[in-house]
Parts: sequence; C-alpha cells; structure tokens
Amino acid sequence: QYRGLNELREMYLSFFESKGHLRLPSFSLIPQNDASLLLINSGMAPMKPYFTGEQEPPRHRVTTCQKCIRTGDIENVGKTARHGTYFEMLGNFSFGDYFKREAIHWSWEFLTSPEWVGIDPDRLYPSIYVDDDEAFEIWNKEIGIPAERIFRFGKADNFWEHGSGPCGPCSEIYYDRGEEYGCHKPDCTVGCDCDRYMEVWNNVFSQFNNDGHGNYTELKQKNIDTGMGLERLACVVQGVGSLFEVDTVRNIMKHIERIAGVEYHKDEKIDISLRVITDHIRSTAMMVCDGVIPSNEGRGYVLRRLLRRAARHGKLLGINRPFLSEVLDTVIAENEGHYPELAQKSDYIHKVIEMEEARFDATIDSGLSILGDMVAAVKAEGKTELPASDAFKLYDTYGFPIDLTLEILEEQGMTTDRAGFDALMNEQRERAREDRKKMGDLGWASENLGLDKSIKTRFDGYTIMDEQATVL
Ligand code: ATP
Ligand code: MG
Ligand code: MG
Ligand code: MG
Repeated sequence: QYRGLNELREMYLSFFESKGHLRLPSFSLIPQNDASLLLINSGMAPMKPYFTGEQEPPRHRVTTCQKCIRTGDIENVGKTARHGTYFEMLGNFSFGDYFKREAIHWSWEFLTSPEWVGIDPDRLYPSIYVDDDEAFEIWNKEIGIPAERIFRFGKADNFWEHGSGPCGPCSEIYYDRGEEYGCHKPDCTVGCDCDRYMEVWNNVFSQFNNDGHGNYTELKQKNIDTGMGLERLACVVQGVGSLFEVDTVRNIMKHIERIAGVEYHKDEKIDISLRVITDHIRSTAMMVCDGVIPSNEGRGYVLRRLLRRAARHGKLLGINRPFLSEVLDTVIAENEGHYPELAQKSDYIHKVIEMEEARFDATIDSGLSILGDMVAAVKAEGKTELPASDAFKLYDTYGFPIDLTLEILEEQGMTTDRAGFDALMNEQRERAREDRKKMGDLGWASENLGLDKSIKTRFDGYTIMDEQATVL
C-alpha cells in the first residue's frame, strides 16, 4: 500500500508510543556538549548521556525522528540510490530497559505486520554480528527466519560506533529491491555494495563504552539504539528507484528540473547533478535552520562546501543565475509540517543561502574557466598533478573549497598536491592570526557578516578541533 513519507514517520512514532515509548522531537543538528562530533549523524548521538547513565532520561523508552547529516557520505550522493548527506533517522531507544528480544520482535512487527507497514517478509534479510548467537536464536527460533537467510558479518558492518561513547554489536535488516537494481556480479548478496540489498534498519545492542582510544568497557546498563532511514523506508514502501524519488524529495527535484529546463531519467550525468543539488539543498536548509553559518572551518566549512558543490552542479545543468534560494521554497514547503521552525526562520535561511550563493556566484565562472586553463597547462606537460599553488589560488581568490577542486580534478583523472595545499593554508592562517594580533580588538570587526542579529547561535569554535574540518 502506498504511503507518503510524512505518513510513515507518524506511523513509526505512534507504533513505538504504543509500545510504551516517549516521543521526543528531533534534536538540533548541532551537537551540544560533544566535541567528538561536528554534526549529529544518528538518532542516538544527542542522547549519549542517557546511554552512559550520566543523565537520567525523561523515560527509559524513547522514540524520535532525528535530522542527520553525514558528510562522510558526500561522495556517495548522486551515485548510489540510498545515500544522502541529509536524512531523517527513525529510532527507538531503551536506556537500561528492554534489550535484544523486544527490539528484534518490534522491528519485525512494524515492518511486516499488515496492520503496520506490511512489507513482504520474503524480501527481508537480517544480519547479525559474527558471534552474536543470542541474536541468531531470536531471528531463527522466535521470528522463524531460516538460518541461511541470516547473515553474519564482522566488525566493519555489524559493530556500531561513531566517535567515542556507547557502542555494541548490531543486527541490520536488509530489503531485496530485486535483480534490476543489482550489480549482477555472481557473488552479489546481502552486504554487497550495490543498490540491490538495501540496508533499512539497524538495531544496535549498545552495551559497551568506547573511551575514544579504543578501550571498551561494559556499560552499567544494557541499551537499545536503533536507526532506520525514513527516506529508505519510504523508498521501499513506495517502490521507487532511489531516495530521491520518494514523494517529498521528488518534489524538490522537480523544482530544480523546472529551473534548469531538464528532465530526470533522460541522461545519467544530468541525473547525478539533480540528485546532488536535491540532497545538498535539503542538508544546507536544515543546517542553516539549526544555526550553522558558512565559514572556512568546522561545521561552517561543511555548509559552505555543500552549498558551493550544489552551485557548481547548477552550472553543469546550465543554470546561469543564483537559484538555490528559490529551490529552498520547496524544501520548506515539503518539510514545514513536521519541522515548523523551517517556516518560522524562512527569511533568515533564505538570506544566509542567498548571501553565500551570491558570494560564490561572483567568482565561480571565472574560477571554473581558470581551473580549465590550469588543467590544460598541466595536461600539456603530460602531467596529472595540479600544483598546490594553483589549488590555493582557486581557494583564496575564487572561493573554491579544496574538496570541490579535488572533485573537478578527479573527473579529469587528475589530482593535486594536497600536502602542499595544506601547508599554504597553514601559512595563511598564521598570517591572519598575526594580523589580528596587530589590530587588537578591531580584528574581529571583519567577522560581522551582516546577518540577522535576532538569531542566536552558540559560538563553539574553541571546542571544535581544526582537524575535524579536514577529516570531513
Ligand atoms: P549503509 O551501509 O547503507 O551506508 P550504514 O550502515 O552506514 O548504512 P547506519 O549507521 O547503520 O547506516 O544508520 C542506520 C540507518 O540509517 C541505516 O540502516 C539507513 O537506513 C540509514 N542511513 C544511513 N546512512 C544514510 C544515508 N547517507 N542516507 C540515508 N539513509 C541513511
Ligand atoms: Mg554508511
Ligand atoms: Mg551498513
Ligand atoms: Mg548500518
């Protein structure tokens, strides 16, 4: 049965309410009191203190739909059917309350019961951590899944941890979308990187704490942390080809198609650009709404990089004017029902994105053409590495984030001297620091971005390490 993304979100939250969970709103994308993360990337991340027992949760069973950003997936966006840098994660959590048995039974009930989502059980495959026999018994004996349909994976796939904090073995649920989505390799099966077997839900049996240095200790309480991508669930239920064709997301893409005068599903290159822009305008709208401002470091850099990458893909589609803040209207219209803050801060979000786009628009065309010349010069010498000084010039004069330059070079089978670039960046930072010292307090005057002063953002530049910006 067809169900819209908004309906599925509501179904999930009310299903877990019926199992005694307290429904909480999504937390902000900006982590609070957690320097190990730049942006919230999962439902559990903002609730770490409840898992470790540091803080008492409002109830021992909680359910949320959490806004998430995963910059690590940026290169997948546009290429796979199942990755966005932004997505919503549905989750049910137990803080020292129920454990594996209930978590597995409820996930199966929600997905397969005709009263709920009603997915064909023959298309679903669970995976477990290699030596988690307890989970195996539950899937096999209690749910009745034959042993050969239960996959055992190692640490990389079935031991969940992100940064420091609570972690543990997990059991994932995969959906077979059918051969037509597969890579057709003879060994293609659950766990294959292609889009045929799509992971929809991850049940984490969070029972350890990682101190951040790889030392694991048993937590005082055993917890459950689950995460299911709302767009992936909708993709399955709606039987569409990718996350980007899910109802609300598709409407955003349609807006871009109208502006560019192109159609989806006609040309793979165009499709990639459409998917990249669709994803990035979603992620950046949500980030700005939660108080991130474009800058050259930390979260602000992530935002800038996403916006400029989207702007460049707009150029690839032949759009010759700033357009992202127009598409923003559809992002807000499609999401304000569940996230009313989008409508409340609409003017502000428009202003931030417009300013950033205008700033880049002034230099992107000349930057792209200079980069073209640089590439031609390197190629003429029979080389494939762009000098660091060129990459730095593109950054410094034309506002090209290094990752954007790298991406464009990669398309040409080229690279750049990354270490050389970083060294030039450090020199520049050093110079700026010296200049600021000389100017005393006045040095900060240039930081005035002319933004709406009534919007408060927490300044936490000091708690976020520079390295994180480069890792991401
Ligand atoms: P994958 O292996 O497909 O990259 P994952 O194992 O990295 O997914 P988890 O960290 O287990 O994902 O997150 C829980 C759930 O969140 C996943 O099962 C999936 O439904 C969803 N999810 C994860 N990453 C993304 C993404 N980039 N875009 C959309 N949904 C995602
Ligand atoms: Mg992943
Ligand atoms: Mg996975
Ligand atoms: Mg997973």
